[in-house]
Amino acid sequence: MKPSAMKKKVVFIMGTAHCGSTLLTLVLGSHSNCRALGEVSNLPEFHRQARSPCSVCQKDCQFWGNTLSSQDMQTLSQGFAERRIHPHIPLKLEKAVRGLLKNDQVFNPYSLIAAKTDEAVLIDSTKTVYWLEKKLAAREFRAGKLDAQLIHLIRDGRAVMNSYSRRKQYQGLSAEQLGQQFGELWMNRINNEHRFFDGFSGKKIRLRYEEFATHTEATLKNLCTWLDLDFQPDMVNYWKYEHHTISGNSGTHSLISKHQESTPEQPIAVRAKPIAKKEFSIRLDQRWQTKLSPEQIAAFYNSTGNLNEAYEWN
Ligand SMILES: [Zn+2]
Repeated sequence: MKPSAMKKKVVFIMGTAHCGSTLLTLVLGSHSNCRALGEVSNLPEFHRQARSPCSVCQKDCQFWGNTLSSQDMQTLSQGFAERRIHPHIPLKLEKAVRGLLKNDQVFNPYSLIAAKTDEAVLIDSTKTVYWLEKKLAAREFRAGKLDAQLIHLIRDGRAVMNSYSRRKQYQGLSAEQLGQQFGELWMNRINNEHRFFDGFSGKKIRLRYEEFATHTEATLKNLCTWLDLDFQPDMVNYWKYEHHTISGNSGTHSLISKHQESTPEQPIAVRAKPIAKKEFSIRLDQRWQTKLSPEQIAAFYNSTGNLNEAYEWN
């Protein structure tokens, strides 16, 4: 199918923090017919602070600062913020009225982006159920103007706990405290995600981060078919492509910047540091196996029962 003949769609990635969504977003966004938007929920805050939302360009972003005009950014920021626009009209009423208007842009922000881009697939990696519930209630999806597809990205809870344990509020906790505090949070999120996934009526797929990281090509072939896209093998080399994603894992983004700094047409001698390909290639991150203590792991299982069984990757 020709790109122009396809109905545009938004792919929502749902999952906990540290589930590998930045990598997945960038790899999918390397397909010529996909555009990775990143964590769209953060756009209004960047706009409010007059900062560029792009994690790759930092400033003077070709996409958020050029393809989209400042008026577009203002409209998007209102639409994504869930905030009232008119100071005297309650948000609920304004949404109800605007919901009746066919071409209202404010509460149909993905349509505005879709109209400005050639790609048929937009990827939103905000990840939370709260966000998904709000955004899918917009007319653009309800009226079928855009299709929504859902990827539930899951990862072994122990690996997620290891990433969380480096956060400030988890440092200095005993194994029991960490296991309990993280375990409760994780369990609530996972249960909520499952509830949302089960009730979602559109096309949906559940994907394990570990499967993606170890059988990348097979996983991508499958995802491309699911998205009605041709498989483009070079997608795995995501660092070679242009991206303008909002937020996400800074380590993954820094690889793109590194690559882009190192590839201008310059003699090797003047490059900062040549980069070995293996630094970029997609690898399974199982650092939890050496970083977490047996006590921490036991405490996690103590507070989450058998919920991680289906997620375990040893
Ligand atoms: Zn950019």
